[in-house]
Amino acid sequence: MTTTASQTAYDRLLEIIREESVLDSISGLLGWDQETMMPIEGAAHRAKQISLLARLSHERMTSSEVSEMLTACEGEMDLTADTEAAANVRAIRHDHDRAVRLPAALVQEAAETASAAQHEWAEARANNDFKRFLPWLEKTVDICRRKAECFGWAEGGEPWDALAEDYEPGCTAAGVASVFGPLRDRLRVLVAEIGDSGRTPDARLDLMHLPRDEQMAFCLDVAERIGFDATRGRLDVSTHPFCGGSHCDDVRMTTRFHDDMLTDAVSSTMHESGHAMYEQGLPYAAFGTPCGNSVSLGIHESQSRMWENQVGRSESFWKFATPLLQRHFGDAVTGIDARAAYESANRVSPGFIRVEADEATYNMHVMIRFELERAMLTGDLSPADLPAAWNAAYRDYLGLEVPDDRRGCLQDVHWSMGAMGYFPTYTLGNLYCAQIFETACEKMPGMVNGFADGHFSGLLDWLRANIHVHGRRYSPGQLCERITGKPISADPLMRYLDGKFRPLYGI
Ligand code: ZN
Repeated sequence: MTTTASQTAYDRLLEIIREESVLDSISGLLGWDQETMMPIEGAAHRAKQISLLARLSHERMTSSEVSEMLTACEGEMDLTADTEAAANVRAIRHDHDRAVRLPAALVQEAAETASAAQHEWAEARANNDFKRFLPWLEKTVDICRRKAECFGWAEGGEPWDALAEDYEPGCTAAGVASVFGPLRDRLRVLVAEIGDSGRTPDARLDLMHLPRDEQMAFCLDVAERIGFDATRGRLDVSTHPFCGGSHCDDVRMTTRFHDDMLTDAVSSTMHESGHAMYEQGLPYAAFGTPCGNSVSLGIHESQSRMWENQVGRSESFWKFATPLLQRHFGDAVTGIDARAAYESANRVSPGFIRVEADEATYNMHVMIRFELERAMLTGDLSPADLPAAWNAAYRDYLGLEVPDDRRGCLQDVHWSMGAMGYFPTYTLGNLYCAQIFETACEKMPGMVNGFADGHFSGLLDWLRANIHVHGRRYSPGQLCERITGKPISADPLMRYLDGKFRPLYGI
């Protein structure tokens, strides 16, 4: 199809990209359903539905028509302009070029390997059997290296960079290492001093057994009070909490509950609410175009972490939430005041499992994975040697002896899915989060104290105006500098962690 007289190349380009986004949004809904509602026997047909949609979407993005329309737009437009149209064309060019660089056969091989590898990984983890997963890890690393070769990387760079581009545009292994190095050294000191402090925070709230339906009602109440719009989204339950959905008016998030550990349910819910509120804040009119999409996983994670940690683990938040606790759980939470709840939510203890880690040790888990995947991609670490390297890193970073691979290198799903270059986005998210939140506190003095009175809209409105509304208009690095005036650094996160944990642990 070619453009008609009344339709410009840009209009036609957006029309195609919007249709591709609708296909992706259907996949998003099917993915949500798979994790929450789908009967177990539906899996095989669901895989066919999702792979057909992925193929249709990929065909659209790589079509010759997209290529022609892009060339026409680039001939007509000043691509350096700070306009939505120029940003859209730049981003579509980026995505199109990456999509066409991958041969269809490699895309299919990667998808099929990931599907089988995830199954094998789940079995290997359940049986604590690394040898079973090893051939699949070797194949996955090989596919990732071939993908990286197809994408290419800048002079002086390395294969990791080519893969990370899908998750955090502009991110390089050298850049990540330069921020992670100083962060690691300072975290080591903090975690060691906490360990030596001899102080044990009040854990009573997390020891209480509370009915799961009441926990659900409490968590949804909290989510709505901080700004999640339940008329444009849902909260359900899944084993691994996530946020997905199909559109800014239909955002699906999940959380998880235990019989005890209420603060885990609250932090999971607030984390996913942060993702959900970012999605709900994307500009409606730009749906389906780059400027209507989130910018990167790191920035996405900065939003989830901010509501989970800077808000949800603050003493001010628990001053607000303690009366709500009484309203939802009644006598069952007698004796829990804001201070007790705050302490429960902020206990630090080095452990083996990343997803259960506290704020002070979490980033160590991410750094270990980054170093290991980087080494596997360059060939410096053979997949067969992963368990030994993993265990040595846990000894070095956290002073722990990993008891088995189930609680060691088999714990995360990411590598089995072929997602290498992904892990650092978690720590980048924490770094962006601390830096952006520090700026928000400077711009809005009294904001944190206001949380105690349930005033969260000031922060949400500010995030909407400074981050959500822009979609992919600016790169993650540009966005960080526009908001905070500085490139990403370890300083704000360390100021935040020292400022919280030193008084809490009397160090
Ligand atoms: Zn997240």
